[in-house]
Amino acid sequence: MHSVKELLYSKSAIKDVTVAGWVRTVRDMKNIYFIELNDGSTVRNIQIVFEQDEDLLKKLETLTTASSIKVKGDLVESPKPEQKWEIKGKELTVYCITPAEEYPLQKKRHSFEFLRTIAHLRPRTNTFGSVFRVRSTIAYAIHDFFQKNGFFYIHTPIITTSDCEGAGQMFQVTTLNMEEVAKSGKLNYEEDFFGKKAYLTVSGQLEVENFAQALSKVYTFGPTFRAENSNTSRHLAEFWMIEPEMAFFELEDNMQLAESFIKYIVKFTLDRHTDEFEFFDKWVEQGLLKRLDNVLSSTFEKITYTQAIEILLKSNKKFDFPVSWGIDMQSEHERFLTEEYFKKPVFVTDYPFSIKAFYMKRNSDGKTVRAMDLLVPEIGEIIGGSQREDDLSMLLKNIEEKGLNKQDYWWYIDQRKYGSVPHSGFGLGFERTIQFITGMKNIRDVIPFFRVPGSAEF
Ligand code: ATP
Ligand code: MN
Repeated sequence: MHSVKELLYSKSAIKDVTVAGWVRTVRDMKNIYFIELNDGSTVRNIQIVFEQDEDLLKKLETLTTASSIKVKGDLVESPKPEQKWEIKGKELTVYCITPAEEYPLQKKRHSFEFLRTIAHLRPRTNTFGSVFRVRSTIAYAIHDFFQKNGFFYIHTPIITTSDCEGAGQMFQVTTLNMEEVAKSGKLNYEEDFFGKKAYLTVSGQLEVENFAQALSKVYTFGPTFRAENSNTSRHLAEFWMIEPEMAFFELEDNMQLAESFIKYIVKFTLDRHTDEFEFFDKWVEQGLLKRLDNVLSSTFEKITYTQAIEILLKSNKKFDFPVSWGIDMQSEHERFLTEEYFKKPVFVTDYPFSIKAFYMKRNSDGKTVRAMDLLVPEIGEIIGGSQREDDLSMLLKNIEEKGLNKQDYWWYIDQRKYGSVPHSGFGLGFERTIQFITGMKNIRDVIPFFRVPGSAEF
């Protein structure tokens, strides 16, 4: 069996090839049948030409869009200028005839909203097929980058009993019978599966930090869950996150790594998907290739939070959320900075302690922390990271000031007692990265099956 992609990129004609896939279109032109076949190996189809013969005619007549077939034939040069190769069909096996009237993807173009209601079928479209091929390659690029740079992949737990960083709302995990609890009016977590309250993780950072204290350079790449009620084009309740953590890295090293990491995965993916990116550039975001080229060739900007606020205040732009020092920047502010003001990715550093997590290293001013967010055009925040507080007494002070309970973090605090070192890391949202690289506007359209408030159908 050959893939459509292999055949389209063949260096020469081949006698006797076998290919299988789904019919995109079938046309009967004066006793010659033309079939456009796709097998998902690429966004492009291969054309199969059957010169009618009596035996084949019956089968060819029944073919409809989305029917599944296998074809044997010869790969020959195509007379059409837009394709180098086509298949001269010799044998046809029909697996399944799709009932044309019922098939929901009969039309050539559908809205992304409509396709979300048939998320089980949308990978068959050119757009979604391309998104998911590229998603796979981006995941590969991420592992490739870290593995080539001496990082170890750590599988941090999905179920956790620590309310981590309080990042958003958490989903509770329980085996207690809710109906029983409601009836009896008694709730005792000691009787729950883990003997205490448990959740789905919102981040693997606290756990992976412990491994950086042993293996120096590590990363996690797994699913995370946030029950925040944000119905935006950039939030999912279940999403994937990449979190590298490096011993002996300070904030500057952290940013340098993040920049070369982003550039690496963009280039890695572009190099492997010429056809998909040509498609995205034409149909999904006009100018995408130029935008990505700009990312590769630019040096990312670096400004402090205080400078960012000054720029926003001086901009004379009307924002929905008013700007002042101390605010948690909204998407509109982030996008103004990266899209309109700098027109390239921007690191914003040294945020107020009051809006950041307890584990970030405090600056000597006492007010700000060694945080860094990376903002990119079209998305806003794609990375959130920091240098971590490695001083035991400062960490305890932070925990107290944030109103957290130090007993809950005993194992995290231990790191600062036993060979504590400066260290840093960040979290990159995988789906936001896919949006950034493909130009897809809604995060629901870059994950195979999306979970958002009120919706987890498939
Ligand atoms: P935001 O302010 O945009 O909601 P955050 O500051 O809560 O994000 P972090 O806790 O810093 O996010 O998480 C690290 C990265 O994970 C973010 O930079 C983003 O790329 C991604 N991310 C965070 N929340 C979500 C979500 N609900 N859905 C998809 N990706 C997310
Ligand atoms: Mn963040």
